[in-house]
Amino acid sequence: MNFNIPDKIIICGIVYDVRLIECDEPIDGLTKKEFIGKINHESCIIFIDKNINKQAMFQTFLHEISHGIEDRYCMKIEEDDIDRFAHGMYEIIKDNPNLFKEIGGLYNNSEMIKGEM
Ligand SMILES: [Zn+2]
Repeated sequence: MNFNIPDKIIICGIVYDVRLIECDEPIDGLTKKEFIGKINHESCIIFIDKNINKQAMFQTFLHEISHGIEDRYCMKIEEDDIDRFAHGMYEIIKDNPNLFKEIGGLYNNSEMIKGEM
């Protein structure tokens, strides 16, 4: 699969910056050793450890996206269930690579991602 983690993603209408990090500086009070992904809903930034392998990076990305959906729809989902859901989504995307391209083709959010917020 020739796809990299995008530097921005729209989650339920909210544009998040996506930052791959490798610094050991604390993010929201956590150091890199304590997490491989983190979403900050106030600053709309997703952090992902750039030193993990690509599969783990995508699963972590989907995990943080799931937290974004959870926040947007005011859900309270246990951390383990977020992880299970993200892994399930990873499997769906892996096994149906054209599905999201087809759904995305119905819309055009590229202007929203490029535009000034
Ligand atoms: Zn989590």
